[in-house]
Amino acid sequence: MHEHASPRQAIEMMIKSNDLEGLLRQAETIHGHRCPFLALGVKAGRHAMDYLEQESTGMEEVVAIVECNNCFTDGIQVVTGCTFGNSALIFKDLGKTAVTVARRRDGAALRLAVRPDFREQMLARYPAVGPLYDQVVVQGQGTAEDRHRFQHLWQAVARRELQEVDLEEQFVIQPLTITLPDLARRFATVTCSRCGEGVMEPRIRISGGQRLCLACAGEEYYVLTGRGIGCARPDF
Ligand SMILES: [Zn+2]
Ligand SMILES: [Zn+2]
Repeated sequence: MHEHASPRQAIEMMIKSNDLEGLLRQAETIHGHRCPFLALGVKAGRHAMDYLEQESTGMEEVVAIVECNNCFTDGIQVVTGCTFGNSALIFKDLGKTAVTVARRRDGAALRLAVRPDFREQMLARYPAVGPLYDQVVVQGQGTAEDRHRFQHLWQAVARRELQEVDLEEQFVIQPLTITLPDLARRFATVTCSRCGEGVMEPRIRISGGQRLCLACAGEEYYVLTGRGIGCARPDF
């Protein structure tokens, strides 16, 4: 037997040693920038993985159920190894900055939900950030200089929220036992009669005796965008 080191070995080590800065750097490689909610996702993910003591190899031994698709979710994906592509990430479109990380073996889980007053408390901790946040993020205004200053402050806020604020001040934390959906299935591929592309069998519709993909059939399908999950016609 030839043992290969897990590609997640570096991340697993950072989880064990509570190297939050190292984990945040990893998360930045997919998220593209450093921000407070990415830091919160990293922190929540690290706490849950430490609690569950279950290695994650992207084979659904650990499942993360996220309730938002914002910066937080990228921190969760990197630290837990539960991603959009490996079926270990479940998205409940509830619009809450919250995650439940569960161990498939026995359903042991930990839910972390950002406290309702978190944003207010966070802005109160950094009085210089609030007015800039309103101007640059909420209203989409301000000079290039303002935006630059905001980015700089926002990164400083992320670092302090990561390292210096207690997890319990940021999250309501609840141990749970949950039942997970069955493991992901592999479906047969069917070729669409119109576009000729391969399609997962459950997404085929029969129309006029032809087997069509949803786009060619002109049917609605679900789309995940920055607004959450919605229905769309082809080429929304
Ligand atoms: Zn972000
Ligand atoms: Zn088609």
